[in-house]
Amino acid sequence: MRVDEQKLKPVENGKYLISGPCSAETEAQLRDTVSKLLERRALSAIRAGVWKPRTRPGGFEGSGRPALEWLAQVQKDFNTPIAIEVGNAQHVEWALEAGIRVLWLGARTTVNPFYVQEIADALQGVDAAVMVKNPLHPDIGLWVGAIERVAKSGVTELLAIHRGFFSHDPQLYRNDPKWELAIELRRHLREIPIICDPSHIAGKRNLVGHVAQTAMDLQFDGLMIESHIDPSCALSDAEQQITPEVFHALIDGLILRSADAPSGETLINVSALREKIDSIDLEIILFIARRMKISDELGHEKKAKNMAIFQAERWMEILQSRTDWGSDQQLREEFIEELFSLIHKYSIHRQTEIMHRP
Ligand code: PEP
Ligand code: MN
Repeated sequence: MRVDEQKLKPVENGKYLISGPCSAETEAQLRDTVSKLLERRALSAIRAGVWKPRTRPGGFEGSGRPALEWLAQVQKDFNTPIAIEVGNAQHVEWALEAGIRVLWLGARTTVNPFYVQEIADALQGVDAAVMVKNPLHPDIGLWVGAIERVAKSGVTELLAIHRGFFSHDPQLYRNDPKWELAIELRRHLREIPIICDPSHIAGKRNLVGHVAQTAMDLQFDGLMIESHIDPSCALSDAEQQITPEVFHALIDGLILRSADAPSGETLINVSALREKIDSIDLEIILFIARRMKISDELGHEKKAKNMAIFQAERWMEILQSRTDWGSDQQLREEFIEELFSLIHKYSIHRQTEIMHRP
């Protein structure tokens, strides 16, 4: 296959860049988002989900088949391919009929070889580019298997998308990146470009850039990032979508390191340790917030009972017990003293505010 025959092409520094809304909601929402995205840079494709797999019924399940008409028009007007998720053979048929030639299999489809096979059969002899997201849970076999099934149907333009994995452990991110599994996939399928979907890994817009940078540091071949003209009003994944302006700033801010900079295993280890630290810091913050809530309750109680906010003996007792607990964990006395003085000071400040409230 010649590069100029590819439906999906890298656009910047050899990287694929895909952006667009989680879901195509209305023609205007799609058009406005796309025009703001393409105003500043070329994209490999625009993403826009038409059928949305929802865990529970009742949510927005996508605009469905009628949206394909808007997509086809936008694709033509902006001269950029549109990519959509397909979950069964019927979706493939309708997408192709509408002239959509870039398709992806979602995480909830990759887990099911029956669906994957059905889609692969519908793609037999079809000229399309297909991207396969990793399955919901960390099973690399299902991911490789899905890519192999699609390849067997004759699709030559194949990419993998890493969107993280479901995890029971408390997580900073919506989906656990488990970077090592994406690297493992590269070992299995050397020729397949792997792009990262930081939006579905992060789950929160303020973390998307951080995940995107890690993906670049690990030499991923590109990024798929959800963007929406008005993210907080999005009908799906409102918390993780970013405006086209933020998307451009994020891409402009990425640091592309050369392949000889530390990558592969070293970076996976560093990233894995950093993610653990991030999760622990989040837990620390959640704990402090819980402590402050209880301290507020105490403030109300003191106010009702006409008690003074600060009691010297109680503070002495706190300092003594906390520094003792800390030294049992090899944490220096000065450190614990400083840490709790700060927490206590802030807590007293909040209680004072409660006391003075009319
Ligand atoms: C999506 O891309 O909007 C989507 C549903 O993603 P995933 O299959 O990764 O959950
Ligand atoms: Mn989404």
